[in-house]
Amino acid sequence: MGEGTGDLPDEARPAQPVLAVVGRPNVGKSTLVNRILGRREAVVQDVSGVTRDRVAYDAFWNGRRFTLLDTGGWEPDAKGMQAAISAQAEIAMQTADVILLVVDGQVGATAVDQAVARTLRRSDRPVILAATKIDDSRGEGEIAALWRLGLGEPHPVSGLHGRGSGDLLDIVLDAMPESPRDDVDIEGGPRRVALVGKPNVGKSSLLNQLTGENRSVVDATAGTTTDPVDSLVEIDGETWKIVDTAGLRRKVGQASGTEYYASLRTKAAIEAAEVTVLLLDASQPISEQDLRVASQVAEAGRALVLAMNKWDLVDEDRRHAMVRELERALVRFPWVERVNISARTGRAVQKLAPAMRTALENWDRRVPTGQLNQWLADVVAATPPPVRGGKQPKILYATQAQNRPPTFVLFTSGFLEAGYRRFLERKLRETFPLTGTPVQINVRVRE
Ligand code: GDP
Ligand code: GDP
Repeated sequence: MGEGTGDLPDEARPAQPVLAVVGRPNVGKSTLVNRILGRREAVVQDVSGVTRDRVAYDAFWNGRRFTLLDTGGWEPDAKGMQAAISAQAEIAMQTADVILLVVDGQVGATAVDQAVARTLRRSDRPVILAATKIDDSRGEGEIAALWRLGLGEPHPVSGLHGRGSGDLLDIVLDAMPESPRDDVDIEGGPRRVALVGKPNVGKSSLLNQLTGENRSVVDATAGTTTDPVDSLVEIDGETWKIVDTAGLRRKVGQASGTEYYASLRTKAAIEAAEVTVLLLDASQPISEQDLRVASQVAEAGRALVLAMNKWDLVDEDRRHAMVRELERALVRFPWVERVNISARTGRAVQKLAPAMRTALENWDRRVPTGQLNQWLADVVAATPPPVRGGKQPKILYATQAQNRPPTFVLFTSGFLEAGYRRFLERKLRETFPLTGTPVQINVRVRE
C-alpha cells in the first residue's frame, strides 16, 4: 500500500478534482498531456491501440493537485470514430470536474469536432477549448474561427514547445472546484455502488435480478434524455445507487469491440462509486484481468466486495478445492469479503448488501488516536522495527489522517522497511474492523 518514505506527507490529502482531455486522434492530446505532466510520466503508447491501463495521471500545477484523465488511447478507425469520440465525451461528462476539448489549431474545426462540441455543450461541467499546434503568434489569427464551436474562447497552445500551456492551465484551474464532484454528496443520499467484471460474468443478469426482483427501482438519473446513467435500487431495505447502469445495459465496451473502452468505463465506474462489487465467474479460474481490476479498486481507495457468480455451475465436490485455489490467487487481498451467488437463480444475492454495508462501514471508519497509539505501543513492544544501518527506528506516534479509505500516518525517527509496514497493516487489521476496505499507511520521518 502507501509507500510514504518521509518526503511526501500524505495526510489530509483530499480526493482530487478530475480534468478529462477529449479530442480526435492526432490533434496533439498526448503531447499536451505530457507537457501538463512535465513529462514526469510518459504517456504509455500501447502497441495494439485497444488496451491501455494507465489512463489517469497525477498532475500538479500552482500548488494544486488534480487527476488528469486521458481519454485518448484509442486507434482511429474511420467508421468507429464518431462512436468512439462520443463515448469519450460521455465518460468525460460523467467523471470529470472540468473537460478540456483539444482541437488541431492548424486544421480548424472538423465535422467530428463539431459533433463532440455539440455533445459537450450539454455538459453541466465547465468545458475549455484548446487549439493546439499553435507554435508561434502567426497561427493565432486562424483560431478565431473556432468560436463557432460554441464553447467560448479558443485558447492557443503548443504542446510541443509549451507556448501558452501555463496560461491554459491557469484557466483550467480557475474553472476547477476545490473538491471533486464525488465529495459533494458523500454525506447522506444513497451509497454508490459499481458492478464490474469481465464481459459475460453476469453483470447485467445481476442488475436485472436486483432491479427486477424487488419492484422498487425508485428513480433513475438521466444522463441523456433516454438512458439512465445511474439507477436507484432497493436492496435489503436500503436504497443504493448503482453507477453507470447505462454502460451495463448497453454493454458499450463489447458493442464497440474495444477492450480499451470497457476498461475505461470500469475505471470511471470505480471512481464514481464508494464500493465496488467485482463479479468473478466461479466456474472459471481467476484471471490476471480480474486481479488487475481488484488492484484498481484498492488503488482508487474504494471499498471492495467479491461476488463469486455462477456458483450454480460449480460442482458440489469441487467447491472445497476451488475455495483453496481462490485463496491462493487472492493472497494480496486477504481483507476482501467473498460472497457466492448466482445471478441467474437469485441464489444468495441477498448476501451482497450486508457485505457491501460492512465494507463501507469499515471504509468510513475512524480509529480514535488513543486506541491507535495503545495498539501501536503493544505491537512495537512485542515486535520492534528491524535495525537499519545500525540504528533502531523509533515509532513516535500514529494518527489517522483520513477515512474513506482509512489512512494512517506514522511519525518515526527513521525509515521503516516495506516488510515491517506490511506487518503493521496486518496487525492493524487484526485489531480494528477493516474488512472490505483498503488502508493506507504513510510514514513521516522526523529528523
Ligand atoms: P493525439 O493523437 O491527439 O494524442 O496526438 P499526438 O500528441 O500524438 O500528436 C500528433 C502529432 O502532432 C504528432 O506528430 C505530434 O508531434 C504533433 N504535434 C502535437 N502537438 C504539436 C504542437 O504543439 N505543434 C506541432 N507543430 N505539432 C504538434
Ligand atoms: P455481463 O456481460 O457481465 O453483463 O453478463 P450477462 O449478465 O449478460 O451474462 C452472460 C451469460 O451468463 C448469460 O448467458 C447469463 O444468462 C449467464 N449467467 C449470468 N449469471 C449466471 C449465473 O449465476 N449462473 C449461470 N449458470 N449463468 C449465468
